Amino acid sequence: MTLAKDLLRWFDAHARSLPFREDPTPYRVWVSEIMLQQTRMTAALPYFERFMEALPTVEDLAEVSEEKLMALWQGLGYYSRARNLQKAAKEIAAQGGLPRTKKELETLPGIGPYTAGAIASIAFGERVAAVDGNVLRVFSRLLDDDGDIGQTAVKKRMEEAVLAHMPKERPGAFNEALMELGALVCTPQNPLCSECPVAAHCLALSAGTTTERPVKAAKKPRVKEKLTVFLLRSDRGSVSLRKRASRGLLAGLWEFPHAPGHLSEDEAEKWMANHGVTFTSLQRGPTHTHVFSHREWEMQSYIVTTKGELPFTAVAWEDRSDHAIPSAFAFLMKTWEGLAEASR
Ligand code: SF4
Repeated sequence: MTLAKDLLRWFDAHARSLPFREDPTPYRVWVSEIMLQQTRMTAALPYFERFMEALPTVEDLAEVSEEKLMALWQGLGYYSRARNLQKAAKEIAAQGGLPRTKKELETLPGIGPYTAGAIASIAFGERVAAVDGNVLRVFSRLLDDDGDIGQTAVKKRMEEAVLAHMPKERPGAFNEALMELGALVCTPQNPLCSECPVAAHCLALSAGTTTERPVKAAKKPRVKEKLTVFLLRSDRGSVSLRKRASRGLLAGLWEFPHAPGHLSEDEAEKWMANHGVTFTSLQRGPTHTHVFSHREWEMQSYIVTTKGELPFTAVAWEDRSDHAIPSAFAFLMKTWEGLAEASR
């Protein structure tokens, strides 16, 4: 039996039931693929349901306010994905629907070759590959390929191999089955080869090299930054938030004000004086290290009760959901919530 037949038979029996599989409209497939780019399936599902309920059509997405969009995306991270989704939605709404081919889809903001391949094959039945990290791992093992999967030439080779095995019927299901195999069976560590439906086709299994595949060049170490974050709370109960710049990391989101470095209490007082803050109490708050893909923030915090006007924007606890605050600051949200409850 061919690899495709073995794989599809397994997929038909074992595929997880997922909301975007049950009703795979082009819009739902597209949004789900963007969400899943950097987020695990179990974490993304509740966001997907909430997003679809709030914005059921591409026109709704094109028209929604930035604040509401960011609030819907809050917690998923990599917010540029949401911005690109909206940019693309505006183009799609103007064109009257999603384009149907991988080539045309790739011209839209935020849609790379993988996502374009997934949408074109799953939603429109085009016979094209959709090669993500899961598929690269599966194919580098199936072929026992010792190329570095970070290299374009190796990715291209894998894409060609996927296409060579892809059946004429059900190309979308074949792509989904490969992703599912990578997620459930051919996992990064300890692949479940004894349960694998394509074990008979796997060259790495017969060569005993499954743990050596795929080959990946070492990543650059993350940049570490120390920050001092301020929870500045007025005697009326509002907290100071500020909006980040519209470009770069966490662009356009809201944050607690912070200063570079781990400031001593004296240095923290100086920072506040420079920002026009007078205060009645200053105490150390929680610490937290947040890991992004290329950097790490080692954060300490101060909880400050201020007198008079707050710097930046004063936000009441009840209005927090109008301000998308990235999960890097979740550790201080709990403190804010505690303070808000205590003052009720
Ligand atoms: Fe992956 Fe093992 Fe299956 Fe090969 S046999 S594809 S290594 S799970």
